[in-house]
Amino acid sequence: MTRDADCLFCKIAGGDIPADVVHETERTLAFRDIAPQAPTHVLVVPREHHPNVASLAAAAPDTLAELVRTAADVAAGAGIEAYRLVFNTGEQAGQSVFHVHAHVLGGRTMTWPPG
Ligand code: 5GP
Repeated sequence: MTRDADCLFCKIAGGDIPADVVHETERTLAFRDIAPQAPTHVLVVPREHHPNVASLAAAAPDTLAELVRTAADVAAGAGIEAYRLVFNTGEQAGQSVFHVHAHVLGGRTMTWPPG
C-alpha cells in the first residue's frame, strides 16, 4: 500500500486522524468534509496515495472506477438523486490537499458555472 507520511488524507485513511466516515470499500474511504459546502458534502479517497485524478487514472484505473461507484453509493445512501462530483486538479483549480479526492456535493440546487 503506497502511503505518504506527510499526507493528511493518508493519515485519515490510515486511521491516524479521525474523520466522520460514511462508507468504506476495499480500496476507498468516504468521509464528511470538515467545512461542508452543501447539506451533503462527502470526500471519497483511495486508500493509496495518488496526488490527483489523472495520476490515479494512469496508475490504477480500477481504483478510480471503484471510487466513482463509492461516490454514487454515498449519494444513494444520502437519498439524493442529483449530485455534483468534483475533482479539483491543481492549485489554481482549488485543489488544496494533494491526495486525490472526489467531492460529492448534494442536497441543494447547484449553479453553473462554478466560481
Ligand atoms: P480541495 O480543496 O483539495 O479540493 O479539497 C480539500 C477538502 O478537504 C476541503 O473541502 C476541506 O474542507 C477538506 N478538509 C481539509 N482538512 C480536512 C480534515 O482534516 N478533515 C476533513 N474531513 N476534511 C478536511
